[in-house]
Amino acid sequence: MPMCTSSPGRCANPDAEDVFARAKEEDLLKIMDRYQIHRAVIMPFNDPFLLSMDFTVEAVHRNLEAICAAHLGRFVFFADVDIRNSPTETADACRKALQSPWCRGIKIHPANTGMAIDDPYLDPLLSMAEQAGVPVAFHSYPNRPLRDECAPGRIGTVLDRHPKLTAIVCHLGAFQWRHAAKLNAYFDLSAFLPDCVRKRGLEACSMMLRAFPVDRLLFGTDWPCSRSCLPEEIYPRTFEILHQMDFTEEEIHQIAYGNAARLLWGER
Ligand SMILES: [Zn+2]
Repeated sequence: MPMCTSSPGRCANPDAEDVFARAKEEDLLKIMDRYQIHRAVIMPFNDPFLLSMDFTVEAVHRNLEAICAAHLGRFVFFADVDIRNSPTETADACRKALQSPWCRGIKIHPANTGMAIDDPYLDPLLSMAEQAGVPVAFHSYPNRPLRDECAPGRIGTVLDRHPKLTAIVCHLGAFQWRHAAKLNAYFDLSAFLPDCVRKRGLEACSMMLRAFPVDRLLFGTDWPCSRSCLPEEIYPRTFEILHQMDFTEEEIHQIAYGNAARLLWGER
């Protein structure tokens, strides 16, 4: 099964906690080859101290582009945001990054910046993305009640302001997934299925996944790591679970590859 997934990047910071985040691109390519992952998305963290040694968003974009250019056809990347810059500078930096043939979206990470998804700071950036038809991935893993800065309800507020925006709700909005499922968006399941099934059981997780349109589900384009599996166990276990959940082969192909290939690589 070919797959699209993410690599969180060549992390300059050795404190990163996961094998995917620590890996250099040669290691990532080995992992990708082992699991038939044809292509991966490199996601930034909205933290220039992790992905560059110049600590600027421009340096992050240069680094990510260099990885994509060195391994043609294997990686694309999402543009980064540095909220130390003005709203206009942020929109301009992303517009410039998007001129790269390998830049396919923009990543917003409110848990790292502390800035809420619907903060007006992001409006110039989101207007630009809306007009350009560029997907914007929102980290959405709230661990507080509804007003958490990355709550999926805030993505709803953003979509009210920017109705043509292509939004990706990462982590399905976590325990607020019912709010996420109402949105007109794409939904990234990260690699949380093994953990979800262990904690909540197959039936409850299946019910949750079926609340989302199957042609909008993406596997692991945001965060391919798991708390309950070794890295090499994540893919076999995830697809074992999807088969147990009575998804058809065609639906599993959509989740693992087809939806991401359509959204990020423009394939039919
Ligand atoms: Zn995330």
